Amino acid sequence: MEQIRRIALFSWPWVRRYRLRLLGALLAGAVFGVSNAGVLWLTRTILERLGGEEAQMVEQDAPAPSAPREAAPTGWMEAQVEKWIPRKGTMATIPQMLVVILGLPLLVSIRSGGEFLSAYWMSWVGERVVNDLRVVVLDKLSKLPLVYFDQAKMGDMITRINGDTLMLQNCITHGVKHSVTDPVTIVAVFTYLVFMDWQLMLSVAVLLPGCLVPLILFGRRARIASANRVRTNVLQSSLLVEMLSAIRVVKAYCLEQREVERFRSLSRQLFSHTMRGVRSQEIVGPIIETLSMVAVGTLILIVIRTEREVPELITFFVGLIMFYMPIKKLAKLHVLFEQTSIGVGRLEDILAEEPEVRDLHQGRPINGFREGLRFRGVSYAYREEPVLHDIDLDIPRGTRLGIAGESGSGKTTLIHLLLRFFEPDRGRILLDGIDMRELRVKDCRDLMALVGQDVVVFDQSVLENIRCGRLDASRAEILDAARQAHATGFIHELEQGFDTWLGERGVSLSGGQRQRIAIARAFVRNAPILVLDEATAALDARSEAEVQVAIDELASNRTVICIAHRLSTLRSMDRIVVLDRGRIREEGTYEELLARNGVFAAMARRQGIGEANRIDPGGTDS
Ligand code: ADP
Ligand code: MG
Repeated sequence: MEQIRRIALFSWPWVRRYRLRLLGALLAGAVFGVSNAGVLWLTRTILERLGGEEAQMVEQDAPAPSAPREAAPTGWMEAQVEKWIPRKGTMATIPQMLVVILGLPLLVSIRSGGEFLSAYWMSWVGERVVNDLRVVVLDKLSKLPLVYFDQAKMGDMITRINGDTLMLQNCITHGVKHSVTDPVTIVAVFTYLVFMDWQLMLSVAVLLPGCLVPLILFGRRARIASANRVRTNVLQSSLLVEMLSAIRVVKAYCLEQREVERFRSLSRQLFSHTMRGVRSQEIVGPIIETLSMVAVGTLILIVIRTEREVPELITFFVGLIMFYMPIKKLAKLHVLFEQTSIGVGRLEDILAEEPEVRDLHQGRPINGFREGLRFRGVSYAYREEPVLHDIDLDIPRGTRLGIAGESGSGKTTLIHLLLRFFEPDRGRILLDGIDMRELRVKDCRDLMALVGQDVVVFDQSVLENIRCGRLDASRAEILDAARQAHATGFIHELEQGFDTWLGERGVSLSGGQRQRIAIARAFVRNAPILVLDEATAALDARSEAEVQVAIDELASNRTVICIAHRLSTLRSMDRIVVLDRGRIREEGTYEELLARNGVFAAMARRQGIGEANRIDPGGTDS
């Protein structure tokens, strides 16, 4: 019950949009359930009329002798039956023939039509809901802070978008349908049988509570197995994503066998959890069936002892089967609900996550970038580990600021704060004197263009890949940006020029070419602040030189923040700050810093720059 409530509460906002269809499906399901009792009634009536022995003339209003124990609703009904359904041994009139030929198909088509419509509309609703939900979950995921992605497993996220929503869909499509049709069938058939012969029904229904015990007992086991299954499934998908995305490392270190073994072992676990679930789920049916046969045995005994009619016996027999079948289905449903509630829990978790950097009350409007950026006492820690301490930094508009520092000193973290991937723990970052927290995240990011070390090339054409910089850029603007990024040369050598497909299913580019695509993106973006994070670090000397020319053009007339491990890249900067374990250690122009003979000069020496042209034996990490 708890699970059903949880699933219902969770899915109602999604289902509500399709409530008319849902209502239709529920009504159709109810029609199906009730018409089961109708089929029973018809079976019995026909059997009786074929029975023959009592086929004497029956007075219109007299109760039928074959149903002496039947409760009230005789009179009118009996008369109608007498009028429309022929008895054995009498001549059927033409209307009676029509009723006999068409009556049963009509009743059955009502029953089957109800089943069809409820299944159709329910699937419709389930399919819609799952699609809506997937989009919303992805939308939510895309808005979560980077910290979340650092901690979450890729497979887990994929499972949430695909697997958990699928479970919910299954539950809506089958669960809701059966939770209407089955109980209605049970109640309708039960009521009919009680009306027909309450003593008989009572003696048979005594076994009903016996069905609940396996239902509850095995339901719990199935739930535990299902939880384990979901967990293993997540591990397995994560492994898959991890292995495929690091396939080069896997191959280079010959880890294929190890990865496949890990996968195999998870597969085995998955198998054993699944089978445990299947056992618990499937055992309930046979138990209930066996119990229902005990009921049938009891029935036969009672019928023999009390000398009841054969049509009544047959009707009861069919009725019992109609009665226990939905109970069996409900038992499986119970397990379905248990499973779905796990998936729903995981979806709830993700939808409840705080989105990245919440925009304070809509945020102040922003108009351009005029004065500059200022860091004031900014500190940041990823978890407990402090990464930046008390950073003060002024970047007036139009300056080119270089950031140097050993790897791990916090350079990337600094610009990620600027890009508002996360907010400072302490201190403020001011844009034109306004605390950035008061501005909308999108407005802030619109002012910046980031060129990083790894360039992501999307599975799209060259044109679209450059358009990422600004989605409303025209073709002419893109061509112009490519020219400025010195990318036109290699793009024209591609088979279809700007329309060549890149990425997974297309042409792969060299590091230098990718970097020029990134620079072209920054050109179309035409943002006043340019952020370069080791943009040329991964390139060989020749590509670096080529790309550097493009970067220098991009940097003109902009405010530039340039992180470089290779210090020679920073020579043209107006000013350089040197980060050391999260603090600003030195500050000055390239020449000043070299002359100071501090951290920067030591790093430069290790890279073979500056007065001392020897390699420091201690410096191996450059
Ligand atoms: P740099 O760019 O100067 O090499 P980073 O800013 O990337 O340095 O990292 C600074 C420190 O923060 C490092 O010690 C690194 O281990 C840590 N760090 C970076 N990113 C994360 C993260 N997502 N989660 C936890 N720690 C991180
Ligand atoms: Mg870095």
